[in-house]
Amino acid sequence: MKKLAAHWQIIIALGLAVSLGVIFRNFTLQNGVESSVGAFASRAANVSTFIGQMFMNALKMIIVPLIVSSIISGIASMGGVKGFGRLGAKTVGVYMLTSLFAILVGLMVVNLIQPGLVDGQPNQEIKAAFDRSAEEASASSLEKVETAGTRKATDYFDFFKKLFPPNIFAAASDNGQMLGVIVFSILFGVAMTRLAEKQVSTLREMIQGLNDVMILITEWIMKMAPVGVFALMFPVVMKSGAQIFIELGSYFATVLSALAIHFFVSLPLLLYFVGRVNPLAHFKAMRTAVLTAFSTASSSATLPVTMRCVQENAGVSKRTSSFTLPLGATVNMDGTALYECVAVIFVAQVMGVEMPITAQFVVVVAALLTSIGVAGVPSASLVAILLILKNSNIDGAETAVVALLSVDRLLDMSRTAVNVFGDSCAAVIVASSEGERVLEKS
Ligand code: ASP
Repeated sequence: MKKLAAHWQIIIALGLAVSLGVIFRNFTLQNGVESSVGAFASRAANVSTFIGQMFMNALKMIIVPLIVSSIISGIASMGGVKGFGRLGAKTVGVYMLTSLFAILVGLMVVNLIQPGLVDGQPNQEIKAAFDRSAEEASASSLEKVETAGTRKATDYFDFFKKLFPPNIFAAASDNGQMLGVIVFSILFGVAMTRLAEKQVSTLREMIQGLNDVMILITEWIMKMAPVGVFALMFPVVMKSGAQIFIELGSYFATVLSALAIHFFVSLPLLLYFVGRVNPLAHFKAMRTAVLTAFSTASSSATLPVTMRCVQENAGVSKRTSSFTLPLGATVNMDGTALYECVAVIFVAQVMGVEMPITAQFVVVVAALLTSIGVAGVPSASLVAILLILKNSNIDGAETAVVALLSVDRLLDMSRTAVNVFGDSCAAVIVASSEGERVLEKS
């Protein structure tokens, strides 16, 4: 019998998780949390969370050795700093371009739908929902938001500090410090190209070997993807309360439609016209990575899968992808940049703060800058949103961010899928400009 393709297995797992999550949730609501059904459901959700975390951890486990070995072996094989400099400049250019496109789409949609207003006035129902959810919020999420709230405007430039971590091992063991690991690996790779062949040939082979091993381990972990995806999704569906989703319905619609426009229109247009790539074929090539991003809500955890899809299905060379993708997973977040822009303007609308075009321009720049520094982990962008809200002097910023945090999962999953797809588009655009035979348009 023919084996079902990986992306179908993941889609079926997602569908099962949603259906069972809804069924268990309704049973619990009808019979109460104390009932035997309720107790069983909550135990099932706990076991599921545990398995989901194991899957996430397994993916995260290989990130550091994968990033280090792929960047170093990629650069070492480029034969000189010149080729690398050109690739680097192109990559950063494409990242800026796609993020800017994303933010402008967000800006347009949020101004068109105005989810925070009713008849031109701040929506009081949403404001009340913000207050209620801040009251109900768990201590841990309040603490998270409070700590984030103490950051200052200068933190916009935190990014530059992260470029050179004082301790590379400490940076490697901290999820938010991948940028430092990337810079270190680039320096390492470039230094290797400057040394005599006999000094580095063994090292190069070793690092290449390490890279091959990491790729094989990724393949093994992905065999567990359907189970992992189910386990991550099921408790999310079971625990999500419907009330706040209804109150924030227009906000959800705004974010999701803006993300969809970027995913289905702007990126494919860039693929077609700038990269000369067939967008449909590229979608197909990236299915598994996009679904993994959606399920894990973490672009970092998805990186091993993204690299595999881009290299094996989208036809991008190891030389190009091994540099663009690790960098992209950390600094290029189209979905996140778009989301930050929409969220800040939405909160301003609800709080009754006028946002003239100049203020919106500041938000655009801030979203572009902060999205570079946001870590590729779940809900990371809420810290950036709080920072921008505070710098825009919007009252009630903390309350709003706590409320957004409580309904973040679905939006986080969607923007992470866009982040990862954006990275893959940038990789093929750069590859095609380097004359590689990617999935060319006919
Ligand atoms: N979860 C997102 C990612 O990993 C970051 C964010 O927007 O919170 O790409």
